[in-house]
Amino acid sequence: MTHGNRKHILVVGAGPGGLTAGMLLAHRGFQVTLVEKNDHVGGRNSELKLDGFSFDLGPTFLHQKFCLDEIYAETGRRSDDHLDFVNLNPMTRLSWGGTSLHTYSDRAKMADEVERVFPDSREGFQRYMTEQAGKFRAIYPCLQHSYHELKSFLRPKLLKALPHVLTTRSVHDVLGDYFKDERLKLAFTFQAKYLGMSPWHCPALFSILSYTEYRYGVYHVQGGLNRISHSMADVFQELGGELRLGAPVREILHRGREVEGVVLQNGERIAADAVVVNADYGHAATRLLGSRNVAEETMRHKQFSCSTFMIYVGLDTIYPAEPHHHILFADDYKANVADIQSERHVSDDMSIYIRNSSITDPHVAPPGQSGLYILVPTINHRNGFDWENHKEEYADKILARIEQRTGMKDLRQRIVAKRIISPADWESASIFMGATFNLAHTLTQMLYFRPHNRYAGFDNCYLVGGGTHPGSGLPTIYESGRISANLVCDRFQVPYQPVDLASEYLREA
Ligand SMILES: Cc1cc2nc3c(=O)[nH]c(=O)nc-3n(C[C@H](O)[C@H](O)[C@H](O)COP(=O)(O)OP(=O)(O)OC[C@H]3O[C@@H](n4cnc5c(N)ncnc54)[C@H](O)[C@@H]3O)c2cc1C
Repeated sequence: MTHGNRKHILVVGAGPGGLTAGMLLAHRGFQVTLVEKNDHVGGRNSELKLDGFSFDLGPTFLHQKFCLDEIYAETGRRSDDHLDFVNLNPMTRLSWGGTSLHTYSDRAKMADEVERVFPDSREGFQRYMTEQAGKFRAIYPCLQHSYHELKSFLRPKLLKALPHVLTTRSVHDVLGDYFKDERLKLAFTFQAKYLGMSPWHCPALFSILSYTEYRYGVYHVQGGLNRISHSMADVFQELGGELRLGAPVREILHRGREVEGVVLQNGERIAADAVVVNADYGHAATRLLGSRNVAEETMRHKQFSCSTFMIYVGLDTIYPAEPHHHILFADDYKANVADIQSERHVSDDMSIYIRNSSITDPHVAPPGQSGLYILVPTINHRNGFDWENHKEEYADKILARIEQRTGMKDLRQRIVAKRIISPADWESASIFMGATFNLAHTLTQMLYFRPHNRYAGFDNCYLVGGGTHPGSGLPTIYESGRISANLVCDRFQVPYQPVDLASEYLREA
């Protein structure tokens, strides 16, 4: 297990969380083995290849790029030397029936745009940006620490942020302080869907999500955001980490409060001084811990995020007038969100997100062709739904709606390749209940009340990824990797040099 005087750390899963922890621990001098069940890295942030087209399986928006930059910087690298980032401006087109708003991270441009589309709203926008800056400054530092002990609530940083956290208001309530028009409120609250939540239920503190988007922008990576996973895996290996693909873990071995390593599906045992778990939390906690597994019924009592119905289509054309990111809101968005929250009703009046990256990126489709990534937030798989018999019909309804609401009038005739992923498919890919954004981010499932970065009941087992603190979304997942790497260092008394690029951004906030 220990190699010379270096401790051996085993990481289960090469998603964004596992790759972050792996990179940092390898850089900090540990012997690290990363075992991944798939034959490729990235998890939900991996590449989906289809007949010459390349899609991102999951993430398409990179927010708070400085979080990723900090991870590279600690290893002595610049993320920009490894990845070709594009700061999108406009970021997204938001459409309601005949009305569209283009969003910008340039504050002056965004102020002009909200005023153009929703007269008399400039003042509310400026006030929102100024007031949310203070809130973000108070909350951000609280996301950088572990909450595995109750006394963590006494940290001065958290005490300062508590008034923003401990309120029964929702994100939607907060936006009512700034805007009257319901559509404009949605432009600043739909980001709750990044957490798989409803703006009417998502805790008020998450109003900082739209703030960070409008303040720090949205990045694309040429080739797709899955390039980030590939690059992180390369750096991990450059740092001496061992990456084993096609190596599913069957069980994490333990004795008392200590984990001792893992056993793979093929029966191979790998001993380790600590284990970092990136596999989906609900899946790992119910399936990978042998006699310490949480009962599935107990897990199901927790609140989970929504799921996503995905259509990836390769087209024999490019639609140059269609934006990179486009969100088509349901006619009755509140009813659509209520359907999703019910965990039972699949909306016919659905909201649709379309990503047309070929207008920005020449690497994702053959010349003259393009790929569309279509995401529809929908019910998770808690109550089951016969997706197998309904997915083609549902996909067709979605494509018809896109033809009706956008300039892509002949979309269905242009399709040369298609793949559908339903909530049932996500569940089959070891994502508990197909809840693509993990446990819901309710006040009762956050901070100390979210599964801890140091897994409860063990001294040397750690969680990373969307199911632990600080939560789902790439920047917070990178942070979870760093928090758990720090805890591993604390346990083995290995010093490390933290990198802080964020403070400068916060000062400017
Ligand atoms: C459709 C979709 C769109 C999203 N869009 C965005 C977005 O635009 N921006 C954003 O910031 N976030 C987005 N997210 C949320 C989040 O950032 C991603 O889901 C992210 O990839 C989650 O990272 P993770 O590290 O938690 O886990 P995962 O990416 O799920 O990685 C876990 C890894 O563990 C592996 N594993 C599981 N079980 C085992 C086992 N037994 N043995 C070995 N390996 C195992 C899996 O194969 C996987 O590789 C999106 C998510 C989805 C699903």
